[in-house]
Amino acid sequence: RDSVKTFLRRNAFVIFTVAAVALGVVLGFALRPHNLSIRQVKYFSFPGELLMRMLQMLVLPLIVSSLVTGISSLDSKASGKMGIRAIVYYMVTTLIAVFIGIVMVIIIRPGKGSRDRPVASSGSIEPVQATDAFLDLIRNMFPPNLVEACFKQYKTLYKKTVLTKNVTILVNATDSINSTDLSQISNFSTILQTIQETVEEVVPVSGSSNGVNALGLVVFSMCFGLVIGNMKQQGQALRDFFDCLNEAIMRLVAIIIWYAPVGILFLIAGKIVEMKDLAQMGGQLGMYTVSVVVGLLIHGLFVLPLLFFVVTKKNPFTFIAGLLQALITALGTSSSSATLPITFRCLEENNHVDKRVTRFVLPVGATINMDGTALYEAVAAIFIAQVNDMDLNFGQILTISITATAASIGAAGIPQAGLVTMVIVLTSVGLPTEDITLIIAVDWFLDRLRTTTNVLGDSFGAGIVEHLSRQELQNQEVEINNSVIEE
Ligand code: ASP
Repeated sequence: RDSVKTFLRRNAFVIFTVAAVALGVVLGFALRPHNLSIRQVKYFSFPGELLMRMLQMLVLPLIVSSLVTGISSLDSKASGKMGIRAIVYYMVTTLIAVFIGIVMVIIIRPGKGSRDRPVASSGSIEPVQATDAFLDLIRNMFPPNLVEACFKQYKTLYKKTVLTKNVTILVNATDSINSTDLSQISNFSTILQTIQETVEEVVPVSGSSNGVNALGLVVFSMCFGLVIGNMKQQGQALRDFFDCLNEAIMRLVAIIIWYAPVGILFLIAGKIVEMKDLAQMGGQLGMYTVSVVVGLLIHGLFVLPLLFFVVTKKNPFTFIAGLLQALITALGTSSSSATLPITFRCLEENNHVDKRVTRFVLPVGATINMDGTALYEAVAAIFIAQVNDMDLNFGQILTISITATAASIGAAGIPQAGLVTMVIVLTSVGLPTEDITLIIAVDWFLDRLRTTTNVLGDSFGAGIVEHLSRQELQNQEVEINNSVIEE
């Protein structure tokens, strides 16, 4: 009986969270027949909304403090090597994900034979040029104002302007004048007339959109950490400050984690209550969903574990078991940045990944490494091409792979961010951007799954980078011990 007790105590959080998901599903389906109004659903999901808010509250100080402490605690050579390993891992796994997505959508061909197109809801998205989107990505790396970066991103917006021009034209007088007047102007065959012509123009205007500019904060924190790490004794006070801040935030996470199962229960139940009829999932949209889901499963449960096993020789499924709570939180919140605090905890507490690694690579991963999003973007773009009966050549598929990768880097870790950055992929190969509306109906569902894959990719990344960097980490420990002895 003691061993059962120990098991329950050790896995209490995970057990609560899994139970919450099950309960949420049951409750959601039980309430569906009652046709709750939008307001009632909002009230009902309130405990879930609270969880989102609590997690999001911690994200900013967590990203900044963990990156600054993570990087300043390593010497620049070690952090450089670790950084390169992380970036290589991010690029390789993202490209593999895109490749899997492309293979899936080409084999399954969800959009084939589509004279009558699938359910398109109304609404349109303004066109965005791929170049503008790329430039915005770079601009966001260098926020002009750090405080503003905490709540705004730079985004080129497009504005429709209606210009009214006065145009003078020659008209045939006999056409424009009524017959009774004809006698008076019979000498003129034509007269001048001024009319007003309206012209519509779509022009780019500078702008910013709401949402944390995580990329800018990541770049700043990394540079800041590097600098104070090199300041030796002089930088000690700042290093201690950020270290302490990081520790305090993680303690807050430990408190919030008790509330997480309640929040997840209501997030899931609320979504099930409000979701549209599942009949929409039939036909082409259903096959499109299957293509994305199968692709994500192959990537998350086969490719990434295999890579982890080949590099570290550790059991990837034990690693996944340790992450369960973070994965379920990702499923419930659809946001990899809101899940970040829980991912930290799972990796450090359950999987015992070195803090110097998690602090460094997790915030970067949650911001730029999104395998699930990249896979989904590639599938969605090719699906839309199929629906439009457009045959893509190899060059266009290559363009989709590159832009899908870029779009996943540019997507923020918030719900349905990938749907917005899809525009870059579509415009790059000349597909109609308004066709995004074709896939909106199932996006809430796919978003949850791709977010879970994103979190899984970041976590495996931390495990792999830790393994590859063990030499540097050990050297660092020896150095620290030596300096303590010298003192
Ligand atoms: N919701 C995803 C995330 O937070 C981003 C996306 O929309 O693909 O990771």
